[in-house]
Amino acid sequence: MRDADAVVIGAGFGGLGAALTLAEAGAKVTVYEALTYPGGCASTFSRRGYRFEAGATLSAGLEVDQPIRRWLRRHGVEPTIDLLDPSLELRAPDLRIVAHRDRDRFVDAFCALPDVPAARLRRFFEEQGRIAAMLWSLFDDPDLLPPLSTKALVSHLRRGPESLRVMRWMGRSLSAMVRHFGLSDCAPLTTWLDAICQITVQCDHHTAEAPFAIAAIDYFFHGAGHIRGGLGSLAAAFVRAIESAGGEVRLADRVRSLCRGGGGYTIQTRKDAVRAPLVLANVLPQALSNLLDQDLPALRARGARVREGWSACMLYLGLDLDCPLPPHAHHIEIVQRPGFRLDAGNHLLVSLADARDTDRAPPGQRVATVSTHVDPKALEAGDAGGIIDAIHQTMREGLRTHLPELDGHIKTEMTASPRTFQRFTRRPQGLVGGIPRRVGLRQYLDLLPKPVLPGLYLVGDSVMLGQSVLGTTLGGHRTAIAAQGA
Ligand SMILES: Cc1cc2nc3c(=O)[nH]c(=O)nc-3n(C[C@H](O)[C@H](O)[C@H](O)COP(=O)(O)OP(=O)(O)OC[C@H]3O[C@@H](n4cnc5c(N)ncnc54)[C@H](O)[C@@H]3O)c2cc1C
Repeated sequence: MRDADAVVIGAGFGGLGAALTLAEAGAKVTVYEALTYPGGCASTFSRRGYRFEAGATLSAGLEVDQPIRRWLRRHGVEPTIDLLDPSLELRAPDLRIVAHRDRDRFVDAFCALPDVPAARLRRFFEEQGRIAAMLWSLFDDPDLLPPLSTKALVSHLRRGPESLRVMRWMGRSLSAMVRHFGLSDCAPLTTWLDAICQITVQCDHHTAEAPFAIAAIDYFFHGAGHIRGGLGSLAAAFVRAIESAGGEVRLADRVRSLCRGGGGYTIQTRKDAVRAPLVLANVLPQALSNLLDQDLPALRARGARVREGWSACMLYLGLDLDCPLPPHAHHIEIVQRPGFRLDAGNHLLVSLADARDTDRAPPGQRVATVSTHVDPKALEAGDAGGIIDAIHQTMREGLRTHLPELDGHIKTEMTASPRTFQRFTRRPQGLVGGIPRRVGLRQYLDLLPKPVLPGLYLVGDSVMLGQSVLGTTLGGHRTAIAAQGA
């Protein structure tokens, strides 16, 4: 049996952020990852000569001076990152909106759309922008992010008027803010907000907790980027950074059990056994219960909140290079029927990789990943196989109708479903995307560090900051700091 200072279970971005922080602090840390490659839901996998993004396709916070780049640069392992411009395009019936990197340009274009109340829209975006700027400044100084230290709490309280501006919207939905500015009937705005909220805070603008959604609207103006080689290259860079800082990452070595005793934990893996006083588990609460073989009320409650969320269906496409879409990485959201539930193929995120990513497809081709949300409760209630087939069909119809540029250019198609996510990322029911930030003050319960048991912490998208590559990475970093200080 080996000894370590800390063990991290899972090399998703939550685990990678935590492990790098621990290794940098001089801890003897080992990461165990079940798969042969890192990144989990945000990994890049190889199949039949293609390299596809498994789930996540873009990340924010990738400007040169933002924390992820600064962090990796310190270890000399920065991957090639192309900042996106435009960062996103929305297509819905009779509506096209393009988000350029420059926020002012985006707002000007939005206000110039036909038949929109431009003056009210400008006031809405001014207020939203002020709050988002304050919240995004926290991402640039991760010491101020949750889980909060006493020092960070004091610093937030000192922000006075700025904090009051945010607090005014706490416990209210984004639609309350839209209503406040007299914009409830502005269909381009509500369609845009629904689409953005769905891929960031994981619910529509009627149900989204306002401060989270207000920040999420600015996701695309804060260093949204494409990683050459796919997001898996970013995960691989983190692995190299962990190793250069003295940590260890063991791939293809699944953790089988976790047993508490003797002032720490015994971790049994497929190939190894190790003892450590500190464990950070980058798995869902229900999966951690299984590893502990213990039904802890705190994990049960958090697991129930994760079950309020989503799984996903995917189409992985190989496209020929003649397809008349921009050669750079390009992300297109499609809403087939605005105002209806944004799952089951009604809403799609289509992400085309950069055509310069030549090692990701056979010669003359590029890859694309298409995703839609799936309600796990709908699958439980009916014929899951039939429902999944129907969702994939709705996704194909959405591409045909709203992305005619792809017609005749799809060379290959592979599908994935909640079962695929369950099998590969080991997430029970294939639940992805964390806890939706639906309206309510309980969204703020996680602001302070909370171990599951002494020396045992969850990291990843089921805890703060959660829900994105940037959020899970910085959340893992903050949790590791809190765990070391405990
Ligand atoms: C379809 C889809 C699209 C998305 N799009 C975006 C996007 O464009 N931008 C964005 O920022 N975010 C996006 N996200 C969200 C983002 O991918 C997640 O928030 C983030 O990757 C979650 O990371 P994590 O660390 O919580 O967990 P995971 O990525 O699930 O990582 C957990 C890791 O633990 C491993 N593991 C599990 N059990 C064990 C065990 N017993 N032993 C060892 N290893 C184990 C798994 O193999 C996995 O690698 C998307 C997610 C999905 C599913």
